Amino acid sequence: MADQRIVDGAAESDEQALERTLRPRRLAEYVGQQRIKDNLAVFIEAARGRAEPLDHTLLYGPPGLGKTTLAHVIAREMDAPIRVTSGPSIEKAGDLAAILTSLQDGEVLFVDEIHRLGRALEDGALDLVIGNGPGARTVRLDLPRFTLVGATTRFGLLSPPLRDRFGIVHRLDYYAESDLLRIARRSASILGVAVDEGGAQEIARRSRGTPRITNRLLRRVRDFMQVEGAERITAEGSAAALERLEVDRFGLDELDRKILLTIADKFDGGPVGLATLSAAVGEDSGTIEEIYEPYLMQVGFLDRTPRGRRVTRLAYEHLERPGRGILF
Ligand code: ADP
Repeated sequence: MADQRIVDGAAESDEQALERTLRPRRLAEYVGQQRIKDNLAVFIEAARGRAEPLDHTLLYGPPGLGKTTLAHVIAREMDAPIRVTSGPSIEKAGDLAAILTSLQDGEVLFVDEIHRLGRALEDGALDLVIGNGPGARTVRLDLPRFTLVGATTRFGLLSPPLRDRFGIVHRLDYYAESDLLRIARRSASILGVAVDEGGAQEIARRSRGTPRITNRLLRRVRDFMQVEGAERITAEGSAAALERLEVDRFGLDELDRKILLTIADKFDGGPVGLATLSAAVGEDSGTIEEIYEPYLMQVGFLDRTPRGRRVTRLAYEHLERPGRGILF
């Protein structure tokens, strides 16, 4: 259902080619995440000054916040080629060794979903066991110097030895509305879409703090405007289109709503423990904790207390549920 998918931070399959055209190429074009950009700029300049590759870098945070984009930006700023792969596609230690040994000197290796890499890297894939039984021997491979850039939505699933391999670790945060506004304007100009300030604002506000969703909403709203023969995207036009797409004022998605409604209705507003909540909504507890709750807390709909999760008065108002009165 379109209304379930539209504010999902993960990329839809037909979206990837388009995303590439909207992707900022340089650090200076990358909107927001100022602290990360400032730090990376220093590390990149220092590494370049020493004619060395950048330290291994780990980027983590919810989907759609710009981890892949940043990996490409890093390669571009380092003037290095980039190889892209993902944790699930590297199954055996041998697969990883094949990639590592074929890297060019200074290359950036981007591994998406690095939490699914298994044990290959943490064990030091560089020591390869050849053969088996008494005749087996270990071969140490000489590798070119390279920068591993790992991305994950699930930091908690990374084993400590794997985490320890990264000299630079950054958590990407949800974007402020003003940043999403800049992204909406930038994407509109690349796509040749006429949008006024109010129209871009409406899109930014409903983007769940996520650039990927900003770009998606912009395209969907453009479709509505085009069919209606409107010249530009205005505040009223985009609000009406987004209402029809059932994207609410905070850009909550199906599971966000389910989490809040479950706590409100089944657990009388909370507090409820993470494990119980996870069983009740039918979603993995780590996903709830690392992907959904941060946004719900940021918009002030959810509290984490020592006794469990609670929904706030604001959430009751937003869900148009009567609160429990006395406690709120
Ligand atoms: P992730 O890898 O975290 O899931 P991506 O890097 O694929 O996210 O970003 C999704 C889309 O959002 C990109 O195509 C890009 O157009 C846009 N985007 C992400 N971060 C930014 C940013 N900081 N500035 C501008 N656009 C961004």
